[in-house]
Amino acid sequence: MTERISHWIDGKSWAGAPERTGEVFDPATGEVRAHVDFAGDREVAEAVGAAARALPGWRAASLATRGKVLFAFRELLAARKDELARIVTDEHGKVLSDAAGEVQRALENVEFACGAPQLLKGGFSENVSRGVDVYSIAQPLGVVGVISPFNFPAMVPLWFVPNAIACGNTVVLKPSEKDPSAALFIAELFAEAGLPPGVLNVLHGDKVAVDGLLEHPAVKGISFVGSTPIARYVYETGTSRGKRVQALGGAKNHMVVLPDADLDLAADAAVSAGFGSAGERCMAVSVVVAVDPAGDELVARIAERIAALRVGDGREPESEMGPLVTAAHRERVRSYIDAGVAAGAELVVDGRAAAEGRAGFWLGPTLFDRVGPDMSIYTDEIFGPVLSVARTASYDEALELVNASPYGNGTAIFTTDGGAARRFQHEVEVGMVGVNVPIPVPVGYYSFGGWKDSLFGDSHAYGPEGIHFFTRTKVVTSRWPDQSHAGVNLGFPGNA
Ligand code: NAD
Repeated sequence: MTERISHWIDGKSWAGAPERTGEVFDPATGEVRAHVDFAGDREVAEAVGAAARALPGWRAASLATRGKVLFAFRELLAARKDELARIVTDEHGKVLSDAAGEVQRALENVEFACGAPQLLKGGFSENVSRGVDVYSIAQPLGVVGVISPFNFPAMVPLWFVPNAIACGNTVVLKPSEKDPSAALFIAELFAEAGLPPGVLNVLHGDKVAVDGLLEHPAVKGISFVGSTPIARYVYETGTSRGKRVQALGGAKNHMVVLPDADLDLAADAAVSAGFGSAGERCMAVSVVVAVDPAGDELVARIAERIAALRVGDGREPESEMGPLVTAAHRERVRSYIDAGVAAGAELVVDGRAAAEGRAGFWLGPTLFDRVGPDMSIYTDEIFGPVLSVARTASYDEALELVNASPYGNGTAIFTTDGGAARRFQHEVEVGMVGVNVPIPVPVGYYSFGGWKDSLFGDSHAYGPEGIHFFTRTKVVTSRWPDQSHAGVNLGFPGNA
């Protein structure tokens, strides 16, 4: 009997009988670790109902009370971060050091939310007219849905949940069905930190659960992270039902290397950003754009580093790259390698052999050179350990290539020329830009978001834009005329 993973509704594990379940794998061995309950309409109604019942109390809770819970949660998470990292590795496959990094970035967002009262302060204009003041109040949206992808099962939920509850909302979190346990661990820790039942609920499942949240009239906001087609669908469906939606989508991130760059630094960056987490990161570098004459030397140095990369079970401390999340995903990524070869790209390192005869969802790091913009390995988000090198004759050509992409999540430039870097940050049409930094994920007190097909909606995730997303402002115009000037005796000594 494998473990059963169920919903967390109203402060406790759901005890009902599910109509459907899904398998959760250990990607390193390929074995089924657990079965996860999939929500239907009944479970959606129960979770949203619990969140709606908890809303009046939580909305009325003082900022001090909300802050106390968040601080307690922060302490618990810091104390138990290794446990959460291990849960992530067991179900996702990424190496433990990477999972620990994910939890650390998640903690940043919790810490930011601890200070949310500062950002919830409104404005006040005294005496806009005699006796009239105007001020603004930031209030919660109500019940909000958070729908997260498989690749950051701890961090992405914590991009949203702490800010949402700090602002007085109640939440239904629908994590990826591929690695659902991190979300449950987080919910249990919040309960231990004193979060009242119903303020955070975890609903497991697939499209049915997502559609249930999109259709439910009590859900007022949706924060979604996932692939572009689903992000677009969630945005269009949610907004057409009158909900506020931010939907972060997929990516195809380019790293431009100018000929004056430190090529060792650039090669190190390309390997860690291309193959870290087996390329299953929305900020992974997928295309290195080598500006002539950097190409030959850069490709040689990247290939040299790939040869030294240790691929293995994420739980082994020496492993640097783990398996892919499922067999189906591994097959999809492998088919892109076949397509790249068929399209005429130069296969410098072939990771396909690593998959042969091994249990688990393995694929080795793969490097293509001289990749053309019409090839599917260039146009599509592969989301695996496949790095492409495209060559251009000039900076202008490189910029044109980056800006022609329908995605605009992250990008980076490697150069020793400050003027070139400054020009790039000004001209590139991408939401997050690194200068000699391959994965420019903003710290928790900025906000995270791409442009173009990488984000639907107008609010980026977490940071100040997260607070903006999870609140509605109300502006009060108030008249309290000073009666002493109207000659009314209020009984004060001076008024006699
Ligand atoms: P996904 O789009 O398959 O799934 C995301 C969520 O949507 C999951 O909770 C899933 O259950 C749900 N879902 C799946 N199919 C659905 C459907 N047809 N209708 C409604 N809901 C559905 O994404 P994934 O494979 O879990 O994650 C990888 C993707 O997420 C990549 O494209 C990656 O770039 C993207 N991502 C983006 C960011 C970002 O910040 N922009 C961050 C992380 C991941």
